[in-house]
Amino acid sequence: PAQSPAETDARALEVLSRVWGYGAFRDVQADIVRTVVEGNNALVLMPTGGGKSLCYQVPSLLRPGTGIVVSPLIALMKDQVDALRQFGVRAAFLNSSLPMESVREVEAALLAGELDMLYVAPERLLLPRTLELLERAPVALFAIDEAHCVSQWGHDFRPEYGQLGVLPRRFPDIPRVALTATADDRTRADILNVLELRGAAQFISSFDRPNIQYRVANKEGPKTQLLDFIHAEHRGDAGIVYCLSRKSVEQTAQWLATQGVDAVPYHAGLSPRERNHAQERFLNDEGVVVVATVAFGMGIDKPNVRFVAHLDLPKSMEGYYQETGRAGRDGLPSTAWMVYGLADVVNVKRMLSQSDAPEDVKRVEAAKLDALLTYCEAATCRRQLLLAYFGEERNEPCGNCDICLNPPRVRDATREAQMALSAAIRTGNRFGAAHLTDILLGEPTEKVVSMGHHLLPTFGVGKGHDEKMWRGLIRQLVSLGHLAAGEHYGLSATSKSRPLLKGETTLMLREDSLVPREKVRKRDR
Ligand code: ADP
Repeated sequence: PAQSPAETDARALEVLSRVWGYGAFRDVQADIVRTVVEGNNALVLMPTGGGKSLCYQVPSLLRPGTGIVVSPLIALMKDQVDALRQFGVRAAFLNSSLPMESVREVEAALLAGELDMLYVAPERLLLPRTLELLERAPVALFAIDEAHCVSQWGHDFRPEYGQLGVLPRRFPDIPRVALTATADDRTRADILNVLELRGAAQFISSFDRPNIQYRVANKEGPKTQLLDFIHAEHRGDAGIVYCLSRKSVEQTAQWLATQGVDAVPYHAGLSPRERNHAQERFLNDEGVVVVATVAFGMGIDKPNVRFVAHLDLPKSMEGYYQETGRAGRDGLPSTAWMVYGLADVVNVKRMLSQSDAPEDVKRVEAAKLDALLTYCEAATCRRQLLLAYFGEERNEPCGNCDICLNPPRVRDATREAQMALSAAIRTGNRFGAAHLTDILLGEPTEKVVSMGHHLLPTFGVGKGHDEKMWRGLIRQLVSLGHLAAGEHYGLSATSKSRPLLKGETTLMLREDSLVPREKVRKRDR
């Protein structure tokens, strides 16, 4: 029998408090739950930690039949299911790690209507055996978690996800809810297409964390800089300091402790007992600073973390967003503070190139790193850049990042931008940053000469600046969408670059990245 929205809301709230013990839904959760319970499709875009799980878990309990959750995170499935069982939810999972005997048990339970939720790996779901099983079973809904994996455009494409179009075809009447924490416009369009969600309700949450102040500084003496920062702004506050290596975690924690900061180290090399101790102290005592590798933070839900400091670069914008996002969950003013220097960039790049990962993976990781570097070197509002990375346009500068609060000196780099753009255009829009830089600097490399690019009018027009400036400029052109990266990293001028080429718009660049390297060193001393 159809229920009024108010009745549905009341039932949802009852389940939320009875099963999970929570008093209220967050922002959009209630709308999403109502939409899905009423049998409609939905697309949910919400940052990590935003509370996506309840958006399909609660409807799974409210609708007749079993909620089927498609998830690529096989390693987490057992934990997720165990957690649900602790709440009394009848949950199970199907993936390749499960012995045949257990598979049969799960299948029987599903057919008997004895499951509230079933987590399935995509490759398992696509097996004819599973699809036929689902056709005979009472299914409440399909939740497609990490839905951005359907898109080849994104960084996490999974071929099995590309085949999930089988769901709307074979189960047209069962509601589908697609969820993701990363989706730009193209990825979102792909999700809508593959899962046939056109016309579905879209719930797009902002990624903005307005109470977090974003700051990035030049690394000049990281430990002292950190201590000054803590003393000046966060004396006695709880915070997390991220370092790349276990050794620097140990050293930094020790040093902070000698300076009177209540700091504890945390990394995967410590014994479980030591790690537990650090975690417990952080959660229960006032004003503890955890110095940690990225191993720390997953599943830690401490509302009053007042600052997150990075002494080393995170791997990507996603990592940065997630790590800094652990600050200020209570909504009170907090700081995301980072120092970085050229050595870090070289370091991370070397680690990338020396990894055993396949070439295409390395290339994606390199692109992610570049996006982060662009953010570090920003001359414009950091929040705008951060949000833009996650596909969120924001017109006004935020007023709560170092750039907005203390604008760096910038200068008009329109002419240089035009030079770089024309180097790309005149070489057919298919060469990468290194080759374009060679042309601008007038380097007659083998590749330049063999292509005849030393004959171009652009050859050598950029000699007045160094390679670093050109690389930085090109990176900015890419991040601003004037140059698009295509296959094999070839860069092509986009339609957006036309006004810039015609001189109708200008490009401003930070002055510090235009200062020759040696001068910077002297000034630092
Ligand atoms: P996501 O999947 O979006 O990363 P989760 O679903 O894992 O986020 O939720 C993140 C955290 O927020 C979890 O600890 C969850 O229990 C908590 N949470 C989600 N919704 C609520 C709510 N309405 N009330 C209280 N806590 C919530």
